[in-house]
Amino acid sequence: MTPCVDPVCTSVLHSGTTTVSAKPPLTVLGSYPGVKCFDNFFIPFPASQTSWLSGLLAFWWFVVEFGHLNMEHHGFYELVISANLSLLLMPLTTSAPHPNLLPPLAFVRRKCLRSSYRKCHGEVDWFSLSAVIGLLCFAPFIVFYFVMACDQYQCSISQPVVELYRGEATLLTIWARAPSVTWTAAKIYAIWVAFQVRERWRAPSLINKYEINGLQCWLITHVLWIANAHYLHWFSPTIIFDNWIPLMWCANILGYAVSTFAFLKAYLFPTNSEDCKFTGNVFYNYMMGIEFNPRIGKWFDFKLFFNGRPGIIAWTLINLSYMAKQQELYGHVTNSMILVNVLQAIYVLDFFWNEAWYLKTIDICHDHFGWYLGWGDCVWLPYLYTLQGLYLVYHPVQLSDAHALAVLLLGLVGYYAFRSTNHQKDLFRRTDGNCSIWGGKPAYIECSYRSADGGLHRSKLMTSGFWGVARHFNYTGDLMGCLAYCAACGFGHLLPYFYLVYMTILLVHRCVRDEHRCGSKYGKDWKRYTDAVPYRLIPGVF
Ligand code: NDP
Repeated sequence: MTPCVDPVCTSVLHSGTTTVSAKPPLTVLGSYPGVKCFDNFFIPFPASQTSWLSGLLAFWWFVVEFGHLNMEHHGFYELVISANLSLLLMPLTTSAPHPNLLPPLAFVRRKCLRSSYRKCHGEVDWFSLSAVIGLLCFAPFIVFYFVMACDQYQCSISQPVVELYRGEATLLTIWARAPSVTWTAAKIYAIWVAFQVRERWRAPSLINKYEINGLQCWLITHVLWIANAHYLHWFSPTIIFDNWIPLMWCANILGYAVSTFAFLKAYLFPTNSEDCKFTGNVFYNYMMGIEFNPRIGKWFDFKLFFNGRPGIIAWTLINLSYMAKQQELYGHVTNSMILVNVLQAIYVLDFFWNEAWYLKTIDICHDHFGWYLGWGDCVWLPYLYTLQGLYLVYHPVQLSDAHALAVLLLGLVGYYAFRSTNHQKDLFRRTDGNCSIWGGKPAYIECSYRSADGGLHRSKLMTSGFWGVARHFNYTGDLMGCLAYCAACGFGHLLPYFYLVYMTILLVHRCVRDEHRCGSKYGKDWKRYTDAVPYRLIPGVF
């Protein structure tokens, strides 16, 4: 496999499961942040500070993550665990040189190595680094804040701040009121992950190929869930809601464990050393990932497993658990809860129905596997993508018929735009433009690009269908769907709208990131395309 990553994925249909192989990737010359960089020297701080900063950060993480393990022996255990893990992490950062050498070394490092780093595409600038550290430090708190706001403040996100301001609560009292991890939650979570691993096992994959069975796993899991709720009664259908915060600690432990394991694995025993991307900055490496396709053995692919399951399969189960809780608490289920369940289930089902397509998206084709995907899939996705259902347990909103109909229409139109746009590109690329889009032969711009080995390659950018309306109309459809989920919760609180805000930031950032990559890849041909289709998301606006 050649180093940098811009794979052209092809799908081959088999009976039962679908095998999607990522063709050996082509190295694209340019400054896309996926470009491999061997500069291991870039350190924005003098070495000793990097060590200390990493140690402190590690200490902080583990205080946060393990602080809830044992409330009775709070301080002592936290300190022991944190100190030990921090010490373990410290040697991973740059070792400190002799103190007398620090000032001149720091100067030389900053001046010389930073410029050599720039040659390596300037990947980790100060802004990116601050963003990376900020996300690593604050993302777990954002998740905690929203879940805690529902648990303790009836989903008001301003109330905790008001109470803190008035001195009626302190960070410690809020923290202490949150349930700690329990054996029940640990067992539920372990069984859940083990079950998903077992289901994944049923479709062992080949090296450099993905063999997928997401739809099958989703169906089996949900059939079992429904059978349990109606006939077997092994556990309560509200089990997820009832253990929501304890489960969050378990998800965090898995999220950090898998990200740290993937990080260490990349140094110690990478699956394919040629597809590793070292930026020279330990935080960036940890967050954005080093290995492109980390695997254990032939069958367990980290990206495929953590991206699809257990997070996305859990999404619909979590919503079902919220629905069951509403029924238990109020004796009925509101139309808003049904709408959220149905619209999000369509989105999730679409994901698994089109799992082969998903393997051609940026996540799989360009991103490396690190904390961003590992922790994000274990914690961020199941906890923040399901906030609407959680909110509706605390605020059972019954929408008027007109409101419900408007939400349903918006959700369905958004889904149609999202699916059709993705389908059009998929069809266009699969048939090399020999297809029908909106009843006619598609128009396109012929492009060429060079790979690092000097080879000249050809490609096409479609200007028909939704790809002629805006350059990322699939994101627009996605955002319409997000707005529908949020609007289903009424207008009483801001909390359910967080998802829309987050997705807007994510997709706009993704759009800019992707266009930066395409601009580097296609050069003046990309300019011709952006002249032909001048808007990104909304024609005439952006
Ligand atoms: P896209 O599916 O939009 O793919 C972008 C790539 O398509 C470009 O890099 C380029 O690749 C190619 N391309 C761009 N313009 C054209 C054109 N006119 N004709 C043909 N090919 C073109 O990006 P994503 O992978 O980000 O998104 C996939 C879907 O996943 C989206 O619908 C998005 O909404 C959804 N999504 C959902 C998320 C969630 O959390 N719910 C998160 C992220 C995405 P090339 O180099 O091959 O030319």
